[in-house]
Amino acid sequence: MVRAGTEPVYVGVGSNQANRNENIALALLMLEADSRIRVKVCSQAYLTEPVSEIPQPTFVNAVVELETSCEPASLLGKLKEIETLLGRTAGRRWGPRAIDLDILFFGKRIVREPELRVPHPRLEERHFVLYPLTEIAPAFIHPVSGLTVTELKRRLPRIGCPPRCVRWGRVPRWSTVSSATP
Ligand code: ADP
Ligand code: MG
Repeated sequence: MVRAGTEPVYVGVGSNQANRNENIALALLMLEADSRIRVKVCSQAYLTEPVSEIPQPTFVNAVVELETSCEPASLLGKLKEIETLLGRTAGRRWGPRAIDLDILFFGKRIVREPELRVPHPRLEERHFVLYPLTEIAPAFIHPVSGLTVTELKRRLPRIGCPPRCVRWGRVPRWSTVSSATP
């Protein structure tokens, strides 16, 4: 069971294949169906142009806050299981995907394993992570850099060219979506 007061865990969710909203809604339901996990908050959905040399459809992205009694490695195992169930096949790294689930932060923990790095090593350069994350956790502090999520978002334009990322609306059928307006 999930204990109250566990450290907040943030997971990025993205899809750019088939029914993107449906994939995201199903992934959240599958997380909720695990008794060790509770989805506390979900950001709004954002539309993001893919950052890839492979031509592919626009992504729908969101970030959720979880409470979990899982250790980081078991949570990653669960995320990979859901990716497989929703039809993500091992393809090209930056290719289109039915669902992508990434652990962004696991409280203040730092994990540096070959299979798992937390905080997520590329979150500072990702608009599609920092826009929804700022909506639900603006004051959360990156445990390595000491910068808040809001500060990281402000620094985005300095890192490469800004891809288009726009707020799109609620994740369908998701009732605990945050009411915050960024
Ligand atoms: P990205 O999500 O960065 O575009 P991929 O989803 O293709 O890249 O990468 C998947 C691999 O990244 C997985 O095999 C997983 O073991 C590894 N990985 C390392 N750190 C993380 C993390 N924090 N969250 C999710 N996967 C991670
Ligand atoms: Mg991933």
